[in-house]
Amino acid sequence: MAETKALSEPQKALIKLGLGRDVDLALHLPLRYEDETRIVKLRDCREGETAQIEATVTDSQVQFRGRRQLVVTVDDGTDTCQLRFFSFYPSQQKALAVGTRLRIRGELKGGFAGWGMMHPTYKPAGGELPEALTPVYSTVAALPQAYLRKAVQSGLARADLSETLPPDAPPAPARATTWTLLQALQFLHHPTPDVSLAALEDHSHPAWQRLKAEELLAQQLSQLESRREHEQLRAAPLVPGRGGLHEQLLAALPFQLTAAQRRVSEEIAQGLARATPMNRLLQGDVGSGKTVVAALAAAIAIDAGRQCALMAPTEILAEQHFRKLIGWLEPLLAPRGQRVAWLTGSQRKKERVEMLELVASGEAALVIGTHAVIQEQVQFKALGLAVIDEQHRFGVEQRLALRGKTAGEGNEPHMLMMSATPIPRTLAMSYYADLDVSTIDELPPGRTPVVTKLISDSRREEVIERIRAQAAAGRQVYWVCPLIEESESLDLTNATETHVALSEALPGVMVGLLHSRMPQPEKKAVMSLFTGGQMGVLVSTTVIEVGVDVPNASLMVIEHAERFGLSQLHQLRGRVGRGAAASACVLLYSAGDNGRLGETARSRLKAMAETIDGFEIARRDLEIRGPGEFLGARQSGAPLLRFADLVLDAALLEWAKALAPILLDRHPELARKHVMRWLGGRQDYLKA
Ligand code: ADP
Ligand code: MG
Repeated sequence: MAETKALSEPQKALIKLGLGRDVDLALHLPLRYEDETRIVKLRDCREGETAQIEATVTDSQVQFRGRRQLVVTVDDGTDTCQLRFFSFYPSQQKALAVGTRLRIRGELKGGFAGWGMMHPTYKPAGGELPEALTPVYSTVAALPQAYLRKAVQSGLARADLSETLPPDAPPAPARATTWTLLQALQFLHHPTPDVSLAALEDHSHPAWQRLKAEELLAQQLSQLESRREHEQLRAAPLVPGRGGLHEQLLAALPFQLTAAQRRVSEEIAQGLARATPMNRLLQGDVGSGKTVVAALAAAIAIDAGRQCALMAPTEILAEQHFRKLIGWLEPLLAPRGQRVAWLTGSQRKKERVEMLELVASGEAALVIGTHAVIQEQVQFKALGLAVIDEQHRFGVEQRLALRGKTAGEGNEPHMLMMSATPIPRTLAMSYYADLDVSTIDELPPGRTPVVTKLISDSRREEVIERIRAQAAAGRQVYWVCPLIEESESLDLTNATETHVALSEALPGVMVGLLHSRMPQPEKKAVMSLFTGGQMGVLVSTTVIEVGVDVPNASLMVIEHAERFGLSQLHQLRGRVGRGAAASACVLLYSAGDNGRLGETARSRLKAMAETIDGFEIARRDLEIRGPGEFLGARQSGAPLLRFADLVLDAALLEWAKALAPILLDRHPELARKHVMRWLGGRQDYLKA
């Protein structure tokens, strides 16, 4: 075996920072720059400024003022400055001897005794001044700045930074391709002092644009590759109409589908009919009627002799789907000798065994449940379609597990994911390029838009008055208390106290309490009282966040609304306005100790008051929070974009998306080189 040379500490640190390759070093861009190109006079300096001066040592002594220190006085002809060193070697003392002329650089502090610098850097005066700004890189203790600077410099010199954009590439926006990558990197590591620092800092400089364009292209290429890999997979084509279940279900529905529901159902039917597994996101605002679209897709799968699995993130939601789908489908399935199975974590052993049996034998045409659906013991006879509701609640692993539940190699299930949190277009383009998206962009008719009110917590009494009026009119009310992350028990106290207070304030109205740590049967009992209409007010923690459907509920009160995220608020608001009655959402907020709401909280509440359009909400959410939250579990551990910004660089993203297929088809070598350069071995993260 070849002997491997032991790595030095800085070398290990480089690898840990992901700077193992020359090109990684070249792409490690400075955090900021220092201007060592000029010598300034002390007379012209300002407090706090990092200055480079040339001066002569006029005094040097070791003092004991609390601590032993070396104090050196220098004079540059315009003023004097005291340099202070708390740790020093005899050799340094010698270098700083009286009469020596030095070039000194450090942060200037003014004081009683005039200028001072703490631990400045220094070297003999004279010598050439650099022509470029000096880069300062982000680093760690084990990796000294000077070492890293040299490493980056040699990485930059050695790395293959040849052009990967083909001659037939369309010109990029923002002058991004007026610079080559090599030029851009050389410039960004060592910019000339005349550059606008603002353009470097806000990344609007063409050199930065080039980098962002490159990065986005790498991302688009790897997404496109993974999409093409996906297309190699084989699924059983599910063609609608063979058994007539789809038509029967349509005829049995108590309402007409909206045009949007018809359109997405058609898109889904086409996807299911293909021999490549469908990977589709169905997005539609809360209440837009995604469940029935899922039921129609399930009917297609069942018609084609396959099973359909439907997975929801909570038991309450799963149960609600179960009831609705049973109501719709069971009367149609029963005459065919088929059943609907139910799988959850809280199920009794005996019932579970029975259900597993139904799933394995194929008698259960439809399987509904929570995560329990993807557990190992669950064996499907012929899974054709997996539907995942509120997909952002699930992680990659869970989706992959569902994908693994197949009858065998080359027989992948089709996947339909549903979400009420629409993914902004830019995000969909950059991270979900391997996903087809269907959008329901209209609500069923007859809904009155929800009116949103921001009310300070000090006016709670008025809100309770309003609840009383709603209850008297036979309407129902949700009251949501926030989840306090640091303390589950506090969270509970909050909800419990509100429950007591509301019960007292509203005699004659049944006020229920629902929180996540209640035993399942109790949760069910409370929920069924509320769904059944006997319970007037439901106080809960955020367990009702997703999917609950009680059309008679007309008022949603959210306490401490300032603590919720925007899409969460929107989801909650979507619980009302589901019937014909005029509905309202009250966002109760309390300002912090300083009597003011934080900036982010304020912009969230403002967005809620200004729009009820889920897409607009999502767009603003992206602005407020950045992409991390949307990506959720999908991107855990994955490299997010380092340089580009999906909102600010949308035009570059469009360009990269258009270029990716050209590059992959006509210049596969360049494409490979480009992806390797930018993503090295990391591109797999992006594919899950
Ligand atoms: P979401 O998209 O939030 O999951 P649901 O599927 O729960 O919405 O649907 C919300 C409500 O609207 C349900 O009561 C559902 O039965 C009803 N609904 C769905 N489609 C229509 C339609 N085309 N016309 C009338 N009501 C509909
Ligand atoms: Mg739903």
